[in-house]
Amino acid sequence: TETLLKVRHLKKYFPVRQGILQRTIGYVKAVDDIDFDIFRGETLGLVGESGCGKSTTGRSILRLIEPTDGVIEFEGRDISNVKSGKMRTLYRDMQLIFQDPYASLNPRKTVEKLLGEPMAVHGMYTPSERKKRVHELLEVVGLHAYHAARYPHEFSGGQRQRIGIARALALQPKLVICDEPVSALDVSIQSQVLNLLKQLQQELGLTYLFIAHDLSVVKHISDRIGVMYLGRIVELSHKKSLYSKPLHPYTQALLSAVPVANPREKRDRIILEGDVPSPANPPGGCTFHPRCSACMDICRTERPLLRDFGDGHMVACHLYNQ
Ligand code: SF4
Ligand code: MG
Repeated sequence: TETLLKVRHLKKYFPVRQGILQRTIGYVKAVDDIDFDIFRGETLGLVGESGCGKSTTGRSILRLIEPTDGVIEFEGRDISNVKSGKMRTLYRDMQLIFQDPYASLNPRKTVEKLLGEPMAVHGMYTPSERKKRVHELLEVVGLHAYHAARYPHEFSGGQRQRIGIARALALQPKLVICDEPVSALDVSIQSQVLNLLKQLQQELGLTYLFIAHDLSVVKHISDRIGVMYLGRIVELSHKKSLYSKPLHPYTQALLSAVPVANPREKRDRIILEGDVPSPANPPGGCTFHPRCSACMDICRTERPLLRDFGDGHMVACHLYNQ
């Protein structure tokens, strides 16, 4: 397996400002020192409740927001210090699919323009070749060439996400960051879009970072899954061992909420106490400790580090460190 993207010590702290002088009174640690790799051709799922830092992670990789610290390598090249204005060539290789395709598609532009523009900006193809490419892209995502003349509002939610996917594919990227691409869609449409993404991955050799807020959506599409809690990755593993033997108490709770087809696989539902604490004022030690039924003294003071407990199954929890 070849590493396509390598992330080390990634941090994104947003200042919290107050008063008329807008003095910085603290920081929201949206992403707080995370490490992970994405291998070529795989799908890494990134899961966690809203506000846990998963979108911030995706956007930091694409430099749509500027990371506070950390190293990001793409195909072995350190891209963390590339000036954001110089990121354009990298956008050919890395693309984003948004949660809400409607918000990301300019309503005043036809599909022809929406799909053709990224190619034009990057000087790819002649105008007539681009037109042909647009038609091909539409077919690839299960739409038709005649849709090119239409506007975003003329499509259903599922079709709009297909346009969003076609737009992301226009530049022939290697890595596609899918930020909750089906969360805004009807349940009946979700699996169609997931199947399309899976099929495109196989046909085009794409690599995905797939962000979702629960473990049921990422189950079928992911090869490996990372679980985030309050800006940190608390568990990262191959899908199979994550679902069969989740190690982190937070993962166990998330998993207990996933519906299963086979009643013998049914787990007792673990109800987490309390809410996710504010990332502006996270608890010390293990940030999960106020909600953890296995909490020990050490958990209140020492941050558990992500460690490999065999076969690439990594967990950050003091339960496994003794
Ligand atoms: Fe619970 Fe402690 Fe593990 Fe955190 S480190 S999840 S508090 S047992
Ligand atoms: Mg988000």
